[in-house]
Amino acid sequence: MKRIIYIPFDHLHRKFGALKDADPKKDVIAFVQSARMSTGRNWHKERLFFLISSARHFAKSLEDEGFTVEYLKAATTIDGLNTISKKHKQLPIICAEPSSFRQFDALKKHGVSFVDNDFFLTPRPLFTQWAGGQKSFLMESFYRAQRVRLGILVEAGKPTGGAWNFDKENRLPPPKKYVGPKYLEHTRDEIDKEVAKELGHNPTKNWGTTRKAALAQMKNFFDNHFGEFGPLEDAMTTDNWALHHSLLSPYINNNLLHPSEVVSAAGKAFAKGDVPIESAEGFIRQLIGWREYVNGMYWFLGPDYRDNNQLKATRALLPLFSDPSKTQMNCIKATVTDINERAWVHHIPRLMLLSNLALITGTNPQAFLDWMREVFIDASEWVMVPNIIGMGVHADGGQMMTKPYAAGGAYISRMSNYCKGCSYNPKLRVGETACPFTTLYWDFLDRHKEAFAKNHRMSQTLFGLKRLSDLPELKERAQDVLKGLDKGLI
Ligand code: SF4
Repeated sequence: MKRIIYIPFDHLHRKFGALKDADPKKDVIAFVQSARMSTGRNWHKERLFFLISSARHFAKSLEDEGFTVEYLKAATTIDGLNTISKKHKQLPIICAEPSSFRQFDALKKHGVSFVDNDFFLTPRPLFTQWAGGQKSFLMESFYRAQRVRLGILVEAGKPTGGAWNFDKENRLPPPKKYVGPKYLEHTRDEIDKEVAKELGHNPTKNWGTTRKAALAQMKNFFDNHFGEFGPLEDAMTTDNWALHHSLLSPYINNNLLHPSEVVSAAGKAFAKGDVPIESAEGFIRQLIGWREYVNGMYWFLGPDYRDNNQLKATRALLPLFSDPSKTQMNCIKATVTDINERAWVHHIPRLMLLSNLALITGTNPQAFLDWMREVFIDASEWVMVPNIIGMGVHADGGQMMTKPYAAGGAYISRMSNYCKGCSYNPKLRVGETACPFTTLYWDFLDRHKEAFAKNHRMSQTLFGLKRLSDLPELKERAQDVLKGLDKGLI
């Protein structure tokens, strides 16, 4: 029977999802570039360029294989599918289960049939089974079970290298004036140029938009960066925008690369013997642990989880998030400048700078989440909702994380070289030159001390708060800092 196979822009793999048994003689392939996804929000143009150009290249590869391909621009996905259905005699439409609640509902209402979403390593029912049996949803427990279930870095039921995680080895600060190997640059073809012109955007060379480019990026990581990845994975430096991060998340999230391909390549590179266990384990944990856990939690926690605001945070998004000239904080200025340039910074600036600042300033979680969704190249709804609501700003009352990821300037100073060139001093919590992170960290703890009082993981921190002799002065300074941040002056 003939079918229309609808391919969302994050299902770009020939061997998975609805395409795995597709037949060029029978199936029509449908892509819809909806106005909602291209102009509906203030999306970063580098992100749009990557997503749209990747989809167009993928559509072209299917056409070259002999498929009838319809690539339509329409107001909504459903409008586009209606037009394609009219042209193709109302054939049944199939799709792999989409990656967000909103798209799932819209397609279901439209009568689309779903095949299982196999773009992850953990089927949704399997995750639900795991989560249903847990008292608390510790990622570490899930990750260990994944290692055993998938047989990765496990020997006779024991973890390779003698430990399940090597976090302690993977917290080195950045070396001085660290340059490192060059990152791959991607050349632009006619499809890229056409998309760039439509968007009025001059793309960087940082992101490829084809399967071939994604494979080249993966090879570059395993050849040149894998060994050093682990120890420096949390470091931040103005000398090097990516250190040894793989830069593979955009390709895995739009499925130009399937996670199993990356895990398998990591296993082979580790087996050659020249990559230390802390790098191999740290990288593999991101893929089979954290990524799978976050996707599982997104579906397990349900569509209302996004609206959580348990700390009752109401501040409007600070102007510095969209305009780096609105702050004198060197760490934030550098990070937002990097984001504006290439729609990417690694997980520590995302968590310990941006989310930390939103958390301790009491920024509304949904306003912050929407901004994070818009500016990052790899920010799918399923990945950002648990990462921000649960981990980043602790808006879920601790459903996902046992304690908030709040930190003062000391952490940032230890893990980066930002503070040296800053107008503020990370060691000071009061006074004109006090680091805003340090002041607001204590102010945040004081504002929420009742909420955290029963959390035993917070008891030492709250004990420290009680011992602050300058708390009244600090609270005054915190008010000035918050007002200054709102005005874009701090
Ligand atoms: Fe950031 Fe504070 Fe360091 Fe300045 S002193 S770079 S604001 S952490």
